[in-house]
Amino acid sequence: MKFLVDAMLGKLTRFLRIFGFDTVYANDLEEHFKISPVPDEKLVIYAQKNNRIIITKDYPLYKSFTERGFYLKGEGIYNYLHQLKNNLNLNLNFSMENARCSICNSSLKKITDKKLIEDRVKSETYKHYDEFFQCLNPNCKKVYWDGPHIMSIIKKLKANSLLT
Ligand SMILES: [Zn+2]
Repeated sequence: MKFLVDAMLGKLTRFLRIFGFDTVYANDLEEHFKISPVPDEKLVIYAQKNNRIIITKDYPLYKSFTERGFYLKGEGIYNYLHQLKNNLNLNLNFSMENARCSICNSSLKKITDKKLIEDRVKSETYKHYDEFFQCLNPNCKKVYWDGPHIMSIIKKLKANSLLT
């Protein structure tokens, strides 16, 4: 299941990527289409071409793409995730191996020798953790690890009954 997430839903975009879903953010397509904001028609064509479900809070956009659109109601990240989980059977089990880069949506690779990323993380982090993952996009290369940030996201998802 691949997604195209509409503008204003940046936090949801990052969540979906961390949980391993291939997710394009509408704002990130501004460069591709050389127009800001990207018009609805272009988003629909892009989603059709790339076989993506459009997630939006914009009813007219949803109406123009009901066959593969998902209309979010209300507010709040946990509310959104509940709607997606219940209606699309989204599996929100987290594993670093399946995660995608929250910044650019690329896959991550496991770092076999942590010396390779030493200059990219704080020294306390480097000392404290042995398993690191890195974004495969050469223009991004963001480094990830199972640190407190990820743990707190998982805790909050559990508290909101989003994880089994
Ligand atoms: Zn990246």
